[in-house]
Amino acid sequence: MSSFTKNLLLAIFGLFTVSVVFSSFFSAENNPAKVTLSDLSAKIEAGQVKSISVQENDLTAILQDGSKVITKKETDLGITETFKNLGVSANTLQKVNISIDEASGFSYWMGLILPTLLPLIFIALMFYFMFRQAKGGMNQAFSFGRSNIKLSNFGKERVTFEDVAGLKEAKEELIEVVDFLKNPKKFLDIGARIPRGILLVGRPGTGKTLLARAVAGEANVPFFTISASEFVEMFVGVGAARTRDAFMVAKKAGPSILFIDEIDAVGRQRGAGMGGGNDEREQTLNQILVELDGFDRETQVIVLAATNRPDILDPALLRPGRFDRNVVLDLPDINDREAILKIHARGKQMEKGADLRKVAARTPGFSGADLANLMNEAALLSARRNKKIVGNDELLESIEKVILGPERKGRVISVKEKEVTAYHEGGHALVAAAIKNSDPVHKVSIVSRGMAGGYTMKLPIEEQRLRTKKQFMADLAMMLGGFVAEKLTFKDVSTGASNDLKEATSLAHDLVTKYGMSEKLGPMTFGNTNEMIFLGREMTTEKNYSEDVARKIDEEVSSFIGRAYEAATEILTSKKKVLDAIAKKLIEKETLEQEEFAALLKPFKIKLVEV
Ligand code: ADP
Ligand code: MG
Ligand code: ZN
Repeated sequence: MSSFTKNLLLAIFGLFTVSVVFSSFFSAENNPAKVTLSDLSAKIEAGQVKSISVQENDLTAILQDGSKVITKKETDLGITETFKNLGVSANTLQKVNISIDEASGFSYWMGLILPTLLPLIFIALMFYFMFRQAKGGMNQAFSFGRSNIKLSNFGKERVTFEDVAGLKEAKEELIEVVDFLKNPKKFLDIGARIPRGILLVGRPGTGKTLLARAVAGEANVPFFTISASEFVEMFVGVGAARTRDAFMVAKKAGPSILFIDEIDAVGRQRGAGMGGGNDEREQTLNQILVELDGFDRETQVIVLAATNRPDILDPALLRPGRFDRNVVLDLPDINDREAILKIHARGKQMEKGADLRKVAARTPGFSGADLANLMNEAALLSARRNKKIVGNDELLESIEKVILGPERKGRVISVKEKEVTAYHEGGHALVAAAIKNSDPVHKVSIVSRGMAGGYTMKLPIEEQRLRTKKQFMADLAMMLGGFVAEKLTFKDVSTGASNDLKEATSLAHDLVTKYGMSEKLGPMTFGNTNEMIFLGREMTTEKNYSEDVARKIDEEVSSFIGRAYEAATEILTSKKKVLDAIAKKLIEKETLEQEEFAALLKPFKIKLVEV
């Protein structure tokens, strides 16, 4: 039932009660008998009447026996007159106690006014309720500026780091935020600058929202969520107003966490996309920037924002003092997957022999959300089979169900793909490990990150300002290591290496044209590169050399690449056994940390070569 009809019914009911009350009020007398005027005259003659009270034209007579009768007299005729005309003698009439009442104020007026007033009241009430209804709608229109900010994370809902499996690095980075929120004074007293905005970057389902809530839960502070996509409404200016409101609410509740989900919905590069752009989005984005800049030392709000597209964010959003910290949430590797499964197995009755490790091993590429979903599917399936506990078979069966699910198509990693990725990353890592001047391998993983199937991270031993040609050559060879490893192992190459090749080519080009590292062309730079600051990222290169030089540059670039390619091929062919061992280990463990990798290579006693 709509609230309008409800109100209307209420009004009608109210009027009904009022009228009932009034009617009972007016007929309060205990129903005296009605008699004619001549009857009453006869009674007076007979001396049966004790008293008569007159109210307007109504006569109420009380008889000797105490009973009451009523009747009416003619208008405009006095009471004595009336009875005289009816033949009552003046003497007898004198014995009757006649009192003339003024019509009692209240009931008189009510009797007069109510009949006219009632419909008016009714109409007025109708209007009142209709207006209230309309005002409700109008209020909604005005409350567009309010943020629909949601507060959660208290009591049972509270989530802590314990509920978040894996994501070790991300948690480590966020510990500081937790510390600050727990004890802001400690940090403020020492004069530390606290981060205001932290960007959580990760694919859908990797636990960004969960982690943000866990930070608030750990610190035990209020957690406010707004979704950036909700900001963008029909009316220009609404998003900005909502942003203002959201920040205000969070500040009032500080220390607190304000979580902006899907910030890419408003945070795209401004001016991107021709033809006007989206005013509303830009205004909202500007407002977020204004709010962040408006934080003072006393502000105890930390803004966490989530996105899976950090590449499209407006650079202004990432400047110092704004979202200047990036916390990357990777897809979970096999250990993390097992841990996530364990978390979601909590509170479910599991079969004794349920092998979560096996499930983890069979679900590469699954996100945390996929795994949570898998666990739930297994429970549903077990229930459907009238089991009291979640069985191992159901767990394994659910893997396929999740893989075939609508969102995951195309993200599935086949066994073959996993093998190719393992050899590819193994190639990078081994070349890096076998070349002099190369930075040590920090981590090798075949868990996909961004567009890449896997990644090999190497970090310089110490912070370096200058890089030498030899180091660059080592980099080049390492970049090609993936491509070469695939080619040697499978006699085929995949698209997975395309990014490597692009980077290698561009590096080789820089060596020749920027750093003067080519023997043939000598110490000269070629091309004027202008960084167009106002466009953010765009670069243009002005060609200031002849076609002849251009050809030489191309030759030199390909000669650099050629040398690196040969070096990588040489290493990987001679150490094919090591490559096999790395790949095998990667398939098994998916991620190798620096120490594990070093331990794996140790027995092979690799001699370093120079490119
Ligand atoms: P995102 O915000 O990155 O899209 P969510 O935080 O909404 O992902 O994660 C969705 C669900 O997946 C969570 O509610 C949780 O049940 C599960 N999940 C994701 N990552 C993890 C994790 N690391 N540990 C435990 N559960 C996780
Ligand atoms: Mg989310
Ligand atoms: Zn690669």
